[in-house]
Amino acid sequence: MRHSPHNHGGATVKYMKTDRSDILACLRNSEDYVSGQQLCDRLGVSRTAVWKAINRLKEEGYQIESVPSRGYRLVESPADIYSESEIVSRLHTKWAGQRLIFLESTGSTNPDAKRFAEEGAPHGTIVVADRQTAGRGRRGRSWESPAGSSIYFTIVIRPLFSPEKASMVTLVMALSVAEAIHEVTGLETGIKWPNDIVVNGKKVVGILTEMSMTPEMHEMQFLVAGVGVNVNQNRAEDFPEEIRKAATSLQIEAGHQFDRAGLLACILARFEEDYETFERALTLSELKERYESRLVGRNAVVRVLDPEGEYTGTSRGITETGELIVERENGERIRVYAGEVSVRGLYGYAE
Ligand code: ATP
Repeated sequence: MRHSPHNHGGATVKYMKTDRSDILACLRNSEDYVSGQQLCDRLGVSRTAVWKAINRLKEEGYQIESVPSRGYRLVESPADIYSESEIVSRLHTKWAGQRLIFLESTGSTNPDAKRFAEEGAPHGTIVVADRQTAGRGRRGRSWESPAGSSIYFTIVIRPLFSPEKASMVTLVMALSVAEAIHEVTGLETGIKWPNDIVVNGKKVVGILTEMSMTPEMHEMQFLVAGVGVNVNQNRAEDFPEEIRKAATSLQIEAGHQFDRAGLLACILARFEEDYETFERALTLSELKERYESRLVGRNAVVRVLDPEGEYTGTSRGITETGELIVERENGERIRVYAGEVSVRGLYGYAE
């Protein structure tokens, strides 16, 4: 059975939207006091439930003023508060992140998301963690995932297309994340094909997309796209020695902290829109130009680290199906498939 992306999947994962996130959203969207009665009516809950939720929010560090006969007002949110209610209260998407599982710590959000997807989690479900103990990149490489500073999330996608198109989702996500970071931080972001985002030549984001096939191996059951963003590491020494030269964070580059919940909400909003654009065409035709405008090393010489033999050539952009076009010295144009291949600038990771 074919289905629309917005209504398929079972409902075994609890919808995590809480009174707290609704109250937060109401308070944040109002300049003035919001009365207890208004909150009760809006949420359809009792006065006691509102009172309890407000107290929980205060415990989490929100400064909420309550004035008898006027109501409640959000005075200040704690800096970079990263919790389920904060993230949910910031979301303005239709499906991306509308089911959310927040974990303080986990091995890696990709296997978690796969497990939830196997149990029926719908399209757009996300698993978010504050810390990963076994974060992974491609080919089993590790992704450094300390607590309290970064975004790690994985989104479940139930594709309506065939497996050979799946690798394009990585490029769609790279574009959405690169533009969201630019929108929120003002930093210039580049995309190092296919799946890394760099700022000033250093990596701030890694993306790992994996797919799960039906037992007969004909159809894709679902995809998971995992994203790691280095946000608030405050100095290069926060990264382990081996990756210090090639890794950076948004705070290091911009000189100040960012709030992770707001950035995550922006990423999800952009991804939702870009994914829908991709899903209409089933190619990157409408996204290619934006992707290429951020592609690092375009029209420069790159080294392709193909396990079957390394070579150099000039990077000429991407095809509508997401391969990198590399022009050899003899003019031959090679379409490089992501798979096992890495690409490097001639003078460094992303030059
Ligand atoms: P390339 O194609 O350039 O070889 P990749 O896309 O294969 O890179 P991934 O496998 O996605 O890279 O990411 C894992 C690698 O990223 C690790 O081997 C390490 O070098 C680097 N890395 C690990 N953690 C971080 C981090 N938090 N920030 C930046 N880079 C990291």
